[in-house]
Amino acid sequence: MSAATGSNPAVRRLADWPAERLRDLAEEYGTPLYVFDIERTRENYRRMAEAFPETEIYYAAKANTARPVLRALADEGAGVECASAGELARVLDAGVPGERVHYTAVNPPARDLDVAVRLADEYPGVTITAGAADTLDRLAERGYDGRICLRVNPGVGAGHHEKVSTGGDAKFGVPAERAADLLEDAAESFEAVGIHAHAGSGISGEDLSAHRELVGRMGELAREVEGRGIDIEFVDVGGGFGVPYAPKEDPLDLEAVAEATREALGDVDAALAVEPGRYLVADAGVLLTEVNTVKEVPGGAVVGVGAGMTTLARPAIYDAHHEIRNLAPDAAERPEREVTVAGPVCESGDSLGEHRLPDPERGDLLAVGNAGAYGYEMASQYNSRPRPASVVLDGDDARVARRRETIADVTAVEPEENV
Ligand SMILES: *Cc1c(COP(=O)(O)O)cnc(C)c1O
Repeated sequence: MSAATGSNPAVRRLADWPAERLRDLAEEYGTPLYVFDIERTRENYRRMAEAFPETEIYYAAKANTARPVLRALADEGAGVECASAGELARVLDAGVPGERVHYTAVNPPARDLDVAVRLADEYPGVTITAGAADTLDRLAERGYDGRICLRVNPGVGAGHHEKVSTGGDAKFGVPAERAADLLEDAAESFEAVGIHAHAGSGISGEDLSAHRELVGRMGELAREVEGRGIDIEFVDVGGGFGVPYAPKEDPLDLEAVAEATREALGDVDAALAVEPGRYLVADAGVLLTEVNTVKEVPGGAVVGVGAGMTTLARPAIYDAHHEIRNLAPDAAERPEREVTVAGPVCESGDSLGEHRLPDPERGDLLAVGNAGAYGYEMASQYNSRPRPASVVLDGDDARVARRRETIADVTAVEPEENV
């Protein structure tokens, strides 16, 4: 069963966040504001490490690259998986030891490979995961002969939305049937240390079968390459450990996932590795935003808030559901009603969805749940909208992880002569 113990519950719901503290933070730092509780991310890591003993856990940094988050997870013992040269540079700069850092190169631009090769030289132990034979050639051309992991396309995908299902997409990884030959070739020019697959972001109670299938294929491949005398260190089965976005959804039963993973992997000499992103950070963050306008329309109301698709992109891109809570001090006394919560961006897709809320009024503070993963990271300056601030809580401490941008930040990249 899930590790739903009192001290480290399997999920932190939006309703569990203390309203008064959130109101104080909004007052002090303004809105929209990302609030991230670092202790919660430590709890999530510990729960995962407990469910997956003797497993290498690499945090997928793209979910949240705030430096205090990277540091806290590294201090807990996590490795980090990077999706770009920029992430690689930031993660190493944050002090994560090279031997605990993986860089997953997906159609890597030349500039990314240049940086990755330089950083791998500077920080020994970095592993570069290649998903195409010619990525290996491009690394060799740059004089790289270090640690290589081969990304395999397992032919199975899993995702809460087709845009985040990667396992069956030809863009990601080499075809499974060619993988052993490719790794054998690669082992002549590089240190071949692992095989990798990531099915997408959708491991949930219901589709463990897709996960089992992926892991099973990776286990077979590991035995095949081990049989050819290639001594890989790890079999990385990716991330995608789901989190409940709606109150009626149950948290993932990690013990069951871990058991299914071990069973499907079978007997291999290499260590198991996993790459959780959202699982470690999603419920550690909320987004605070203020109600600017309440507009009565036939059949309901549109509640206009400061945070839009440029602040939190997931609802617009993935139709993702994020819970919303009205933090007004008297919210409990107000009647509930169905409303549409919409942002300030000139796009019809700029909506945080339909919600049943204690009747929102102008000036109310709303909290948007599960904003710790892919929230700030996907924020943009579209509509010349400066990106929001983010603060990190550690016990009673609060500190700014990213200051609020200004309009001057938006224009800072324009050369003087154009201004
Ligand atoms: C995005 C990604 C992850 C993490 O996905 P989550 O759904 O956040 O767990 C892990 N591995 C790779 C290669 C990824 O691209």
